[in-house]
Amino acid sequence: MDFCWDPELLALRAEAQAFADDVTAGAEVREDSWLVGYSREVSEELGRRGWLGMTWPVEVGGAGRSPLHRFVVAEALIGRGAPVAASWFADRQIGPVLLQYGTDDQREEFLPDILAGRASWCIGMSEPDAGSDLASVRTRAERHGDEFVVDGRKVWTSFAAVADWCYLICRTDAGAPGHRALSELIVDMHSPGITVQPIRDMTGQEHFCEVTFEGVRVPAHRLVGELNGSFRQTMRQLEHERGGIDRLASNAALYRDARADADATDALVRDEIAALESGYRIGRLLVLRETLGQAPPSFSAATKTWCTEFEQRVARFVAATAGPRSTIWGRVARGLCYAPAYTIMGGTTQVLRTIIGERVLGLPR
Ligand SMILES: Cc1cc2nc3c(=O)[nH]c(=O)nc-3n(C[C@H](O)[C@H](O)[C@H](O)COP(=O)(O)OP(=O)(O)OC[C@H]3O[C@@H](n4cnc5c(N)ncnc54)[C@H](O)[C@@H]3O)c2cc1C
Repeated sequence: MDFCWDPELLALRAEAQAFADDVTAGAEVREDSWLVGYSREVSEELGRRGWLGMTWPVEVGGAGRSPLHRFVVAEALIGRGAPVAASWFADRQIGPVLLQYGTDDQREEFLPDILAGRASWCIGMSEPDAGSDLASVRTRAERHGDEFVVDGRKVWTSFAAVADWCYLICRTDAGAPGHRALSELIVDMHSPGITVQPIRDMTGQEHFCEVTFEGVRVPAHRLVGELNGSFRQTMRQLEHERGGIDRLASNAALYRDARADADATDALVRDEIAALESGYRIGRLLVLRETLGQAPPSFSAATKTWCTEFEQRVARFVAATAGPRSTIWGRVARGLCYAPAYTIMGGTTQVLRTIIGERVLGLPR
């Protein structure tokens, strides 16, 4: 049995790899390029090539291709550090959520720009006191006639400073408890009343932000799905966030360069390379199961845990290979400082382990 891709997928992979090499040529490759490699031009080119909405139905303008086609392109682009961040959230989860829960009008309004790589989205879930515990979200949206008026504060909102739209999780019934009062709104980031304050992370980058909403008016037709009933939708969105190749291949380019430098005559180094090579393959099989819809419900928690812990191991290997050079500020040091983020964003490893225990294994709470 040969588990290799068929010739069509191999050709697609080669094309995506060549494109990634082209757009990264002469620039320092950014690890986690789906989050910090922001280029509107690259996203528009992805749109022109039909590499956005690859699996969406043809009737809505998608390419109607198989999940494997999308997997092959995404692995090639992210694994080589191509700057795909300007369209990644929209392609990975906003489009699929609109396909599942949006209205025809919303699909008509938003999908064409997403498919063309013209629209950039941010995701307003986390708040200062509501990260892991999304049911504690306090940002509220009150209905006034045919508008919602939004007040509150979000934090760690990636791309908020440059996004056109925010997919906002907010409280729409002040009286109802926890998750039973949450709704999802599409908010125009150019609306009056929005203030965006970029936050600098340990690596000096400012891709995420604090966002304040003060009396922001949102047309009522921008409610996605059920009023006060969005928790299920949000959990579905997190499944899109957790099971993809972006959770495994973020620092693959850094690894490849470090491996070329590693002292393969050292048995311990060889041992670690063997562990990392098998770790990537295991993670890739887990992601493929998610991609093909073969993973059990909630299993994306396990997939993300494995993959992101793997990425942290890669960062440690790269730093060990560089030795004292890793203390000089540069790509290796930045990769090491960035690595804690892998197991925080999209759900922390501790919280995901609880999901694995309770929802996948059915262990007692
Ligand atoms: C690079 C990056 C990008 C991000 N981008 C976005 C974005 O675009 N949009 C967005 O909305 N958010 C974003 N986030 C935020 C991210 O989703 C949250 O940081 C994450 O969900 C954790 O929430 P928190 O930071 O509030 O930590 P907390 O929830 O306060 O957790 C703090 C610690 O307590 C532990 N903990 C909490 N609850 C439990 C529990 N029940 N059992 C065991 N341990 C627990 C956690 O594991 C963690 O170690 C981003 C974060 C990072 C790092």
